[in-house]
This record gives sequence, structure tokens and C-alpha cells, in this order.
Amino acid sequence: MNDKKREDVELLSISSGEASQPFDWSVGKHGSYFLQQLRDNKKIVGIKCPGCQRVYVPPRPVCGHCFKGLTLDDIIPVSDEGTIYVCTIVQFGFVDPSTGIQRPVPYTWAFVKLDGADTCLTHFLDSTDAEKVKVGARVKAVFEEKRTGNLMDIKHFAVL
Ligand SMILES: [Zn+2]
Repeated sequence: MNDKKREDVELLSISSGEASQPFDWSVGKHGSYFLQQLRDNKKIVGIKCPGCQRVYVPPRPVCGHCFKGLTLDDIIPVSDEGTIYVCTIVQFGFVDPSTGIQRPVPYTWAFVKLDGADTCLTHFLDSTDAEKVKVGARVKAVFEEKRTGNLMDIKHFAVL
């Protein structure tokens, strides 16, 4: 086969058909408390390990550093403002696994380290301006008006 014939190749596709695969999973007590605070109070909480003092957002039941069990009593508020730790401006569209719908491009996604936290929360940003969207830029959570107990109750983080 010569190259001319290869370039004329018929483009084929494979369909997933009409299959729908909705599913739910438990986020546990720690995750539920986190989501309830987003939904009911527009507050972001973390959990502070009494052993090593690390603050995790979202809260988790075990410290990943010292393996100490963490209870709901270890939950503390953190700021709704933070700093971009890692970010990308997505230019190539693909199906968003959380919705099954292709998100319009460009959009921006980042690891945000909230003030008072030692870990990052991943979320979308409101800007695709490469001059503003940079590691170290300050951001603030913007909440949805109607919240349902989901991470997307934070609409996005606004670049300040
Ligand atoms: Zn710890």
C-alpha cells in the first residue's frame, strides 16, 4: 500500500449504542458533611489531622501521611479563597465523564490550594485568559444559586 492510498482511508467509528450507565456511590460521612456544608452554608471545610496537623480538603477518614483515623470532630472551616497550584487551559474537546456531554472549549481546570489547607481541590476556573490563569494566581469560589450537595455546587473559582 502506498501513502496516497493510506491517506484516502475511510474513517470509521464505533458506537456505544444507546447504553445508559447511571450510577451513584456513597461519599461516606466525611464527604457527606463536606457536601452538606457546600449545599447548605456555602462553606468549604477540611479536616485537620491531630497527629501531623495536615489539613485535607475535602475531608477524609484517614490521614494519608500518618494514617491516623480522623473523625467529624476534626473538621475545620477553610477559606473559599486560595492559590492556583496547577492549571491548564483545555483547548481540545472531549466528553466530560461527570456529565457525558462534551464541555465547550476552551475551559480552564486547576488544582486550587485553599487558604488553610495542605491539599488541593480540583475545579474549573472562570477565565481562559492565559495572562491571568497562572500558577500562584489567587482565586475565590463562586457558588451556584441552587445547590444540590455536589462538588459542582461550587460553580467555578473566579480568578482574582
Ligand atoms: Zn496525620
